[in-house]
Amino acid sequence: MSRVEILLASRNKQKLRELAACLRGLDVELMTLDEVPNAPVVEEDGETFKENAAKKATEIARATGMLTVADDSGLVVDALGEKPGVRSSRYAGENATDRENNEKLLREMSDVPQELRGARFVCAAAAADPNGLIRVVEGSCEGSIGFEERGEHGFGYDPLFVKAGYSKTFAELAPDIKNRVSHRFLAMQKAGILLESYLAKKKRQEEGQPPEQLSPS
Ligand code: IMP
Repeated sequence: MSRVEILLASRNKQKLRELAACLRGLDVELMTLDEVPNAPVVEEDGETFKENAAKKATEIARATGMLTVADDSGLVVDALGEKPGVRSSRYAGENATDRENNEKLLREMSDVPQELRGARFVCAAAAADPNGLIRVVEGSCEGSIGFEERGEHGFGYDPLFVKAGYSKTFAELAPDIKNRVSHRFLAMQKAGILLESYLAKKKRQEEGQPPEQLSPS
């Protein structure tokens, strides 16, 4: 089988590095939207992370003819009835900055005591080929929302998110530590496993072998 190209539907180099690390050992070439200028811009108008990731992956795979991985992520806060959720990047308005979103989150949480400040980051990753969706997987990271912004690293809600079992916010942790425990890393790990079995199945088909049998339990 010739070397397989996989398109990551993003321009984010960090996401590219994470997926690359999860696919190590496979003979694939990872590309981003920077290298595939004909890919359509897909509106993320779904009600769930999985819906958005699946829509992005299938539409881009169909338009480009490439095996595609797309992700969608955000913050889910218990005390706010699962908000900001799929609207995480535009919580304080359409073109809101990270600072504005964080300030709004702190305002909405001002009366919420520590024990009710539970939250999680969620990331859905979908894989699709030109024939349609292969599968969507999800990674999540449990934690809580702090009472003030702390730390300089990362982006988005990192200065307010404290992972369960940690005392520092994600923005206070060294980036390589955050990236090893993050919702996105967990989703990309699952996407890596999914792509591995998809490519193995395709290889067997191309070689005319029967599908792998499950061993009797
Ligand atoms: P995207 O789907 O990766 O573009 O993320 C959407 C939004 O969710 C971002 O603009 C952030 O507000 C928030 N978000 C997602 N992942 C993270 C993270 O790892 N740290 C902080 N904020 C995040």
